[in-house]
Amino acid sequence: MPMPDLVMSDERATDAEAAVVDAVLAAAGQSPAVAHEDERMVRGGVHRKNERRHLLLPALHALQNEAGWISPGGLNHVCDVLQVPPAEAYGVATFYELFRVDDPGHRDDVVHVCVDAACQIVGAETKIEALEAEGNHVHRSPCLGQCERPVALFVQGRGRPDLVPADDEASSGEIPQRHQAGLRLLRRVGRVDPNSLESYIGAGGYSALAKAFASGPAGVVDEVTTAGLMGRGGAAFPTGSKWRAVAAEPGAEAGAQKHVVANADESEPGTFKDRIVMENDPFAIVEALTIAGFATGATKGWIYVRGEYPLATARLANAIALARRAGFLGTGIARSSIDFDIEIRRGAGAYICGEETALFNSLEGFRGEPRQKPPFPTTHGLFGQPTAVNNPETLLNVLDIVTDGGAAYATSGTEGSKGHKLFCLSGHVARPGLYEVEFGATLGDLLELAGGVRGELRAVLLGGAAGSFVGPESLDLPLTFERARDHGVSLGSGVIMAFNDSTDFSAVVTRIAEFFRNESCGQCVPCRVGAVRQHEVLVRTEARPGATDLVLLDDMDRAMKDASICGLGHTAATAVRSALAMGLTEGASA
Ligand code: SF4
Repeated sequence: MPMPDLVMSDERATDAEAAVVDAVLAAAGQSPAVAHEDERMVRGGVHRKNERRHLLLPALHALQNEAGWISPGGLNHVCDVLQVPPAEAYGVATFYELFRVDDPGHRDDVVHVCVDAACQIVGAETKIEALEAEGNHVHRSPCLGQCERPVALFVQGRGRPDLVPADDEASSGEIPQRHQAGLRLLRRVGRVDPNSLESYIGAGGYSALAKAFASGPAGVVDEVTTAGLMGRGGAAFPTGSKWRAVAAEPGAEAGAQKHVVANADESEPGTFKDRIVMENDPFAIVEALTIAGFATGATKGWIYVRGEYPLATARLANAIALARRAGFLGTGIARSSIDFDIEIRRGAGAYICGEETALFNSLEGFRGEPRQKPPFPTTHGLFGQPTAVNNPETLLNVLDIVTDGGAAYATSGTEGSKGHKLFCLSGHVARPGLYEVEFGATLGDLLELAGGVRGELRAVLLGGAAGSFVGPESLDLPLTFERARDHGVSLGSGVIMAFNDSTDFSAVVTRIAEFFRNESCGQCVPCRVGAVRQHEVLVRTEARPGATDLVLLDDMDRAMKDASICGLGHTAATAVRSALAMGLTEGASA
């Protein structure tokens, strides 16, 4: 008999739907058989350490892929075998862009077309019209993380893997510096076969792990601290401090579990750096995450990859499998007494899941809503256990730090920004793509690296949709954490999106507001209401608000900054307000 709090409707899964869900459980070593009398597993879903609930996201992916939607019968089956209350599972399924719970009435692929700024300014709407005229089922999508090759497409398949059409093309344009001397972070790209462990080891791979073992966990944390490594995901938190805090928590020796997580859910419009790194250098991410686990005493690693990155996911999965087979993951890794393994989790299209606590909830099988902090992830993270979350680019830096020593690493860069940095160049530049520079390069240097601006530069969106517009007068700004802060802007995740004077800024700014309106998780009132009202004002005024509306926008921005739980609410008005302050939308036609 089902549990009393698991009230199912009568719909039943098809055999095919049940089979794909059961396969997810089998892959995780779980039987689809459920002991319904076992009350440990539900009770309103409050047991966050539920041994099955974290499989909810993979199970929903399996259903979506099999049937093209999450049918009531399919959802019932998932709820039954995972022992999740249906209302909660429905709440999770409806949270994500890549899932649909209404019957699409067709069984075709769905073509997701990016409508955010980099694609918007080169004719995303025209592309959509053309695709629809060809009979495609089109979904207007937020940024797909392919801003260097607009208009970006992502094809959600049915009964076959999702794909990105551009991945089929030999694309070297996305890394214009490929093979250039002096690169640190991108030096293996184009030289190392991303599908071959031998190739990676031949290029020095896994020597950093050996060095880490020789240094010991505390030694690794000391080197990372000496290096002055700051997180590259946007928050710029000192990595050494984070690792030290997790390392100080009880671990396996005390029968406790700790985690390290690679946050590869990059969804900030304009950002694609982690995608390119994961596609081209996946073993480096796996090795660096292993070192993070060793340094912090975590025996479990997770890579949470955004759902729109099928190639990166496949290459990481292959790298993990090969590393495991070679003894670099699993029990007694690299002939040591250390246990460490990595699991991949695929996101399903939700910008907010890049926020670390939202990511925890998503991974645990809950809606991707941020948690209040404190407590902080270093003590209460994934499954309520100590967790270090790092961006893939941050992890990439760890390999050089461990190999060369923190002091040597710290000789490059500037006083407050050590090492090298990846920047995502897009928009009206001659050669959009991923660029690596030593910290200290100016905005103008980066634009020059990308071949300069096509047309006359009017503005640059720095840091993504959560960042700010700056004008040509900022070309001399060194792109370091400290100088950006002094300038009142943020490097964010390394977005540099250039706009020339032909840009319809009214449309761009209104779309940014719409993005935040759509991506707010809705948990707190200032953000939920403020993001909607901001968008409404911009639509009504064609992004040219008068004095009264400017006061309203100002009030809402302050309320969102003061009273929102997470960074999305804090930054939802930043780009809009900077554009209005610069007068970018004046004279524009909506
Ligand atoms: Fe959700 Fe916005 Fe609140 Fe963040 S600020 S928790 S996105 S409603």
